[in-house]
Amino acid sequence: MARDEVDLFVIGGGSGGVRAARIAAGHGARVALAEEYRLGGTCVIRGCVPKKLMVYASRFSDEFEDARRFGWDVGEPRLDWSILKRNRDAEIARLETIYGSLLHTAGVETHHERALIEDAGTVVLPGSGRRIKAGHILIAVGATPTLDPPIDGGELAMTSNGVFDLERRPDRILVIGGGYIAVEFAGVFAGLGSETTLLHRGDKLLRGFDEDLRDGLGEAYPKRGIALALGTTLERIERAGEVLRATLSDGRVLEVDDILVATGRRPHSGGLGLERVGIETDEIGAVPVDVYSRTSVPTISAVGDVTNRANLTPIAIREGHAFADTVFGGKPTAVDHGLIPTGVFSTPEIGTVGMSEVAARARHGDDVVIYKASFRPMKATITGRDERTMMKIVVDGPTDRVLGVHLLGHDAGEIIQLAAVALGMGATKADFDRTVAVHPTSSEELVTLRTPFVTKKSVAVG
Ligand code: NDP
Repeated sequence: MARDEVDLFVIGGGSGGVRAARIAAGHGARVALAEEYRLGGTCVIRGCVPKKLMVYASRFSDEFEDARRFGWDVGEPRLDWSILKRNRDAEIARLETIYGSLLHTAGVETHHERALIEDAGTVVLPGSGRRIKAGHILIAVGATPTLDPPIDGGELAMTSNGVFDLERRPDRILVIGGGYIAVEFAGVFAGLGSETTLLHRGDKLLRGFDEDLRDGLGEAYPKRGIALALGTTLERIERAGEVLRATLSDGRVLEVDDILVATGRRPHSGGLGLERVGIETDEIGAVPVDVYSRTSVPTISAVGDVTNRANLTPIAIREGHAFADTVFGGKPTAVDHGLIPTGVFSTPEIGTVGMSEVAARARHGDDVVIYKASFRPMKATITGRDERTMMKIVVDGPTDRVLGVHLLGHDAGEIIQLAAVALGMGATKADFDRTVAVHPTSSEELVTLRTPFVTKKSVAVG
């Protein structure tokens, strides 16, 4: 028998909502959760996880090529998209089931339908006509991709959601945007053999990242066959028989099979009933919250992308967990959004934590010391592949404290996780230096960089 009254009603079954529900239930709360689409949310269903599986798929093309230089005869590789899609979708379905069982085991009651806020203590489920009283309501509805800017024929393009529905590999694809999603999928499609153009309004990809990462990726992508159209916008899309015709601001017209628009995501807060309880969202629809994820209404909180703080899965999970500990565990916990490591699963991959050189110089001026290495990875000495690995450490000279680490190259996302532990502990450059190298690896550069990098602008001396 479904409950009519709970201590916590969670709207949204993604990373943040599911974690909050499970932890709150563990603290003894009666918890219900509603999810209108599939349990797991963006990350599991149409984000991080299926994307990473596509990244793995895309990197085999390099491996097949490289294997020959190591003596392997691998024949002529051919991609069967239907096998990739079937196996990827099966894995996502498996994970979705696991999310369902985790909630069930924790004693959380799950509603597979849309939920709306009626008042500060009531949620309605219009699909089944139910009304549930809740001591606390948690908004964890995430964000959705935008199709910005609106242009003629924009409806012919797809967002990242559509990528996972594709029934065949596009032979030619145009990707719009210069952020995480655009950069990652451009790499994926190019690796899978699509003729790929990446179009971005800015003059470099990945605004906000360290300039050496931006430059490094900007050099690597064309070498991998990705055509970069920078400082360019998309003006119009038309269908011409089987193909899409994209008119660019530089006058060029590209004929492609698919167009992926990845120009950002917006909080999914519309139509939830927030106006009924007096919660005002910001100009993009984000729900404002304090450090404990509380909204302006004492019984309503919000976590994850709907709050537009740091839109990353591990952060949503932390926010959900901290919310449950605060409200139901008697342990007020604020999430520290200060030092967030992240990976961009482009090929070459990016791993980054802490301040970029630009951000560090803005705060510490000429005291900033840069250590940097750019080298050919060992594997490429045999394969002949034209690729570079870049490793950079940003240090505050007077205190010797490491402010940022930025990596471009194989396994950068894996390596940066442990660099983040060191930075979180307040590591100094001397701490890095007295760490024994693991040889032969790329990451040993991080502990063997001895000489400050000298730029024309400033001579940095450690
Ligand atoms: P991002 O905010 O990373 O990038 C959006 C891109 O679109 C920017 O390059 C931006 O340009 C451009 N853009 C925005 N508006 C327009 C416009 N009107 N016309 C043309 N270009 C425009 O968003 P994404 O969609 O790539 O990713 C969304 C979020 O998902 C990210 O914030 C990230 O946190 C998360 N994510 C994380 C991943 C990871 O951890 N590996 C992977 C994928 C997503 P400009 O720079 O000029 O503003």
